[in-house]
Amino acid sequence: MLLRLFLLLLPILAFASEKPIIILDPGHGGKDEGARVLNCVEKQLTLRTSYLTKKHLEALGYKVVMTRARDHYLALGTRVMRANKRTHSIFVSVHYNSAESPSAKGIEVYYYGKGLQSRRTFSRELASCVLEQVLAETKGASRGTKTGNFQVIRETVMPAILVEAGFITNREERALLGTHAYLDKLAKGIAFGVDKYVKSKT
Ligand SMILES: [Zn+2]
Repeated sequence: MLLRLFLLLLPILAFASEKPIIILDPGHGGKDEGARVLNCVEKQLTLRTSYLTKKHLEALGYKVVMTRARDHYLALGTRVMRANKRTHSIFVSVHYNSAESPSAKGIEVYYYGKGLQSRRTFSRELASCVLEQVLAETKGASRGTKTGNFQVIRETVMPAILVEAGFITNREERALLGTHAYLDKLAKGIAFGVDKYVKSKT
């Protein structure tokens, strides 16, 4: 009897413990460079960071897909469409910041503050976990979690965040972003943050 019950529940249990697919979205690409200062180009940094994040997530046992895997232009609507094809997933868009003031610095994580309440709550929790772990790994300055109206986090249907992982326009941060070691810390932080969020839900 117990065995029968167990066998009946098995597919449900297996589904519940299955890890979500992580969709990484390297910002910009191709003709859209994003922010640039000297040889520091946002579209390159977002791709590098995403590949490193993918490596850390795979080491943690996640399946990872990227909206773009090389330097080509991808419309925001296409990114959303690709992401929304994946059920049971989490969306993380990676960007770098720029500002008029060269003193602006730090890391901030956006989520969409409107729409379906459950998704809003999940996205806010995901943003907090990722920011916390990125700060722990990088010892960077925090600009907090924020609500933002970016298309890729507004129109996707799964928990979704957009990480602004530092300022290309800040001399100190730009120097760090030029090193593999620092990008790997950022990537590790993003991966650990996603994992922390997923574990909080299972
Ligand atoms: Zn950007």
